[in-house]
Amino acid sequence: MSNKNVQIFQNICPHNCYSSCGIRTYVNNGAIVDIEGDPNHPFTQGRLCSKGYTLLKKSYNPERILNPMIRAKKGSNQWRNISWKKAIDLIVNKILEIKESGQSTESIFFDMRTGNIGMLQQALANLFNSLGPITKVGNGLCDPAGADAHFYTFGEVRNADPSDMLNSQYIIIWGGNPAATSIHQMTLIKQIKQNGGKIVVIDPIQTATAAYADTHIKIKPGTDGALALGMIKYIYDHDLWDREFVTNHVLGWEEFLHYFETEVSLEWSSKTCGVSIEQISMLAREYCTKKPSAIWQGLGGQRHINGGQNYRIINSLAAITGNITVIGGGIYYIDFRSYNLLNNAFKHVNLNHTDRCININNLNGLMGIPIKLAFITSSNPMAQYPNINMIKKFFDNVEFTVTVDHFFTETAKFSDLILPVATFFEKPDFLASYWHKYIGYSKQAIKPLGESKNEFEIARLLAIELNELGITEPLKYLPDLNADDFLARHLKPLLARLSEVDYSDIIKGGYYKLTGINTTWEDKKFKTPSGKIVLPSNPIYLPERKPKNNYPYRLIATHSEVSLNSQFSNIDVIQNIAESPKVFINNKLALYLKLKNSDKVRLYNNCGEVIMKLEISDSVPEEVIMCYQSNQKDNFSINCLVEPLLTDLGEGSRGFKGVAYHDTFVNISKA
Ligand code: SF4
Repeated sequence: MSNKNVQIFQNICPHNCYSSCGIRTYVNNGAIVDIEGDPNHPFTQGRLCSKGYTLLKKSYNPERILNPMIRAKKGSNQWRNISWKKAIDLIVNKILEIKESGQSTESIFFDMRTGNIGMLQQALANLFNSLGPITKVGNGLCDPAGADAHFYTFGEVRNADPSDMLNSQYIIIWGGNPAATSIHQMTLIKQIKQNGGKIVVIDPIQTATAAYADTHIKIKPGTDGALALGMIKYIYDHDLWDREFVTNHVLGWEEFLHYFETEVSLEWSSKTCGVSIEQISMLAREYCTKKPSAIWQGLGGQRHINGGQNYRIINSLAAITGNITVIGGGIYYIDFRSYNLLNNAFKHVNLNHTDRCININNLNGLMGIPIKLAFITSSNPMAQYPNINMIKKFFDNVEFTVTVDHFFTETAKFSDLILPVATFFEKPDFLASYWHKYIGYSKQAIKPLGESKNEFEIARLLAIELNELGITEPLKYLPDLNADDFLARHLKPLLARLSEVDYSDIIKGGYYKLTGINTTWEDKKFKTPSGKIVLPSNPIYLPERKPKNNYPYRLIATHSEVSLNSQFSNIDVIQNIAESPKVFINNKLALYLKLKNSDKVRLYNNCGEVIMKLEISDSVPEEVIMCYQSNQKDNFSINCLVEPLLTDLGEGSRGFKGVAYHDTFVNISKA
């Protein structure tokens, strides 16, 4: 873009995604005229995904909410614009009513998720935390079981550097689909294959990644631990384990051995996970002999009631072969260390209370203290939480719901007040990746559209009124700052402490890795209490969830390349690619059920029902019904079918268990 009036800004995609891409934003006369991937970003190197290239359209989308809006009356579909002053008054009055009536501040529900993963929104979290103990959903939705598997095995949740994978000769991608969800890492995986390395995918579904791989192992969902145990059995029987490493750096081997001698055979493993003994043996042999060999655990494989234990058993493979300390070996999951460093720097330090953190499945029927005010930001619980009909009942009983968003999401439609929020082009922010570990400054490129405001500004307006009423004493400083001051106030001390990059340099642009973010474990020092890797203990294999008579098919709602949970699907180009929501079943199952392509089918279980269009595809196993995460345009969320089940692990590293999204069973019939 050669026009000399055009200014270029560095932005960072704020979506919940492995890549956290660097973006170049071209602005002319106060309007964005183009965006492209930032070639200077060390990991994403100038490339965005198909969603990323629509970010400009998303920002200028005619459906964007650009004024605060109030619903005419609860349950109605009529909205009218109101001023920010009135909107803030409504929220403050509700808080005041709670305080003055002597009710607990636990009657305030605050929900902030990962609709964007920038740091600026911490201003809102701090403001609500300063009110006193409030109510939150404790559960992380997506990753806690796998995170705990790493926490208990290695003492922390830590990945090798993604580029280290290029040193691998053999990659097992276990329960993930980077071709759709992590396109930049997929590029590295393709390089590994081109350089002669071998790619194996373990997945019940023939995803795009599985189709690309050298070998696709089709496993029965939820039985990953049984396959890993079969591999370990083979490795032990053929003396392929690393005796020296296990003796010096692994705890629990004796108990593990006893379990193998009494409980595990290749026949049992094969029967349980549906993978032939030949394939189990081949996988084990190649994993041990084509070194360095790495395993990448996706998020999908741990969304089961036994997902955490399954991932612990998979972790054991990297431990007993010593692969964990080898560059190009190791085991990848996610790595929140950079993100947590930043995020913790923004946490308000003066608070000495404990919030009421509740189990997501107990939201409806909250005992004791009913919810008077719900404040939702960066979240769409009416689409993304499990068992949506139960979540609806919860919101039905909330006196006043406020949603901060860009669009009329399912949750916004259910709210009483909507506050229009600025996009990432319209505010300054800091972002950190949970994959490649780079952090960076995303510079405000244009003014907020319409009357939208960034999260800091919304918090500041609330703080001005609440401070006058003496309610948010700890946040006295907030009204005197702007968004950039707020970022600097929280980040400068952290960067000074890490003494790698100066704040004044980082806001000029560029992407930085923080010191102290080590990657592999070459030093063989693990942060477990014993300093050693800890193998899982009895009962080592937790059985997978089995179908019920009335609901015989497992539902797997997965991510596609063109959508991200409930986001992006209202963008016209994405709609053209994504078509209408479809459900995929295997040809054999279609014949058995006498269903054909394009039939309208009903999926149902105890939690709800949806009507979708059928596509027959042999990429899906016979016992599985697959679809993609749904969106705003579909007027339903597939999560209305997700049963209220939690994963086995999550409390150790995340405080709460995750949601066992992939252990839902449904039935299907012609609609
Ligand atoms: S969604 Fe992910 S891959 Fe796509 S532009 Fe954003 S960070 Fe990059």
